[in-house]
Parts: sequence; structure tokens; C-alpha cells
Amino acid sequence: MYFMHSQTTSDDAIQAAATLVEASSRIVALTGAGISTDSGIPDFRGPNGVWTRDPEAEKQSTISHYLSDPAIRERAWRSRMDHRAWSAEPNAGHRALVQLEAQRKLLLLVTQNIDGLHQEAGSDPERIVEIHGTMREVACLDCGWRGPMTETLDRVRAGEPDPPCLVCGGILKSATISFGQNLVAEDVDRAFAAAEAADLILAVGSTLGVYPVANMVPVGVRAGASIVIVNGEGTEMDDLATVVVRGSISDVLPRIVGGAASR
Ligand code: NAD
Ligand code: ZN
Repeated sequence: MYFMHSQTTSDDAIQAAATLVEASSRIVALTGAGISTDSGIPDFRGPNGVWTRDPEAEKQSTISHYLSDPAIRERAWRSRMDHRAWSAEPNAGHRALVQLEAQRKLLLLVTQNIDGLHQEAGSDPERIVEIHGTMREVACLDCGWRGPMTETLDRVRAGEPDPPCLVCGGILKSATISFGQNLVAEDVDRAFAAAEAADLILAVGSTLGVYPVANMVPVGVRAGASIVIVNGEGTEMDDLATVVVRGSISDVLPRIVGGAASR
């Protein structure tokens, strides 16, 4: 269960956020690791985060370490195999964003998550930008070949601790963006174009400390969007928010999106 810092979730804040959602028609959702913790996938920087507990784990996500150290790659393949995402189910937070789409209010869903749970919940893949990539695919760092993660994990299980690319012999990695790797320009463009076109940016479960994606918030503000931030603890963008809702995402997000119907 997620550990809550704030004593109570303010009903007034939920009400104010729900009113903004109701009044908006071009909502851009921006989600982070916090939306998936109630599905059993730990975040990185939250109170029980992977990096909060084990700062060394950050190396696995740094491209220079990954390229230079076979031991780090073997450890990375083992943790991909054991990743909780393979057995995780979407939760009420993911489902609330599917509901927002059904209300025809969702312009774009930009997620920093790599777990694929928004798609599992039923969000339209065409409306999702996975700005940090996906762990459900593998990419060759040399020739660019891509394929499903499950097939490469079968090779690991069959005894290849660091399976090379079958096309060129190069180094394979999950199709995620590690530190030191560039984001996909087309994805960044789509995310920021949406932030400029939005009437509301709904930021959920992110410390909003990872750039450039966190800049969607000030870009949205300058273009006239309202900002609703839903998170269990303070974020770096709280000062820019129209409404900050502190609370458990799977609890409060359905109440915010349910709008008048659920009150
Ligand atoms: P983060 O770990 O930096 O922050 C998550 C935030 O969510 C924290 O402030 C935490 O307090 C809050 N939170 C966690 N569970 C919550 C809950 N149930 N209710 C309310 N608040 C909750 O996450 P980030 O900002 O997304 O940045 C981390 C980076 O790591 C991302 O770029 C992402 O690519 C990657 N990541 C992805 C996953 C995933 O795919 N599920 C998991 C861990 C990390
Ligand atoms: Zn290759």
C-alpha cells in the first residue's frame, strides 16, 4: 500500500479538480510511476522507491554503464525477467483515464511509465505517448532492430545471460530511454504540441523532476491551460498548479474524473 504523507485528502481539492475536469474539453494527462504503484510496481523516487532504497540500481538505467559493463547488462536482463509488470494488472487510476477518453475529453496521454499498463487498461494506443519508451519491446543499440521483449526473455531463460542481436550481434536493451540516451524527437514534439493545445494538464503520480517532460507544465501554463496535480507528496511544479490534490491516486483520480455523475 502506498504510504501517505498528508493526513487527509482534502475533499475541497478533489471537488475543485473535478470541476476543472468537467469544464475542460482538451485535457492532456501526464502520468508517472506513481499511477502504477497500486498495481504493485514500485516507483523510483517515492518514499518506497527503488532508487530511494538502493541508489546503485540507478546505474542499470545509465547507458554508459550498460554499454561498458556486461555484469550490469546481465543484472538488467534478470531484473527484466523478474519485473512485476509481467503479472501486474491496471488499477482504478489507469481506468479513470480510460473513462476520461470515453468522455471525449482526452487530447493525449503522455506517460513516463514503461510498463504498458495504460494500454492494458484500455486507453487507445494512438493517444498514448510513451515518452521514456516501453519495456515490452527490445531494441538493438547498434542496428536499431526491434522485437517483442517476451522472445528475448525466452533466450535469457534458455541460458543466454546477455543475448546479442540476432541480426548484427550488437547489444540489446529494453526499448526504454536510459539516462544518456536521447528521447524520440517525434514523441517530444507530440507531447509539447499537446501541452500548448490543452485547456487542462492533469499531472498524476510524478515528482515532475524529470526533464524535458516536466516542462510540459510551464509550457501549458504559458499557453493558458489550467494545471491539476495529483500526487501523494509535493512535486517540483506545485507552485504552478491551479489545484493540487494530495492523496492516493487510485482513490482520488476516479473521484476527480467521475465528475458530477459520482457526486
Ligand atoms: P518518481 O518515482 O520520480 O515519482 C513518483 C511519485 O509518485 C512520487 O512523488 C510518489 O510519492 C508518488 N506516488 C507513488 N505512488 C503513489 C500513489 N499510489 N498515490 C499517490 N502518489 C504516489 O516517478 P516519475 O516522476 O515517473 O519518474 C520516474 C522515472 O522512472 C520515469 O521517467 C519512468 O520512466 C521511470 N519509472 C517507470 C515505472 C513504471 O513504468 N511503472 C516505475 C518506476 C520508474
Ligand atoms: Zn542489431
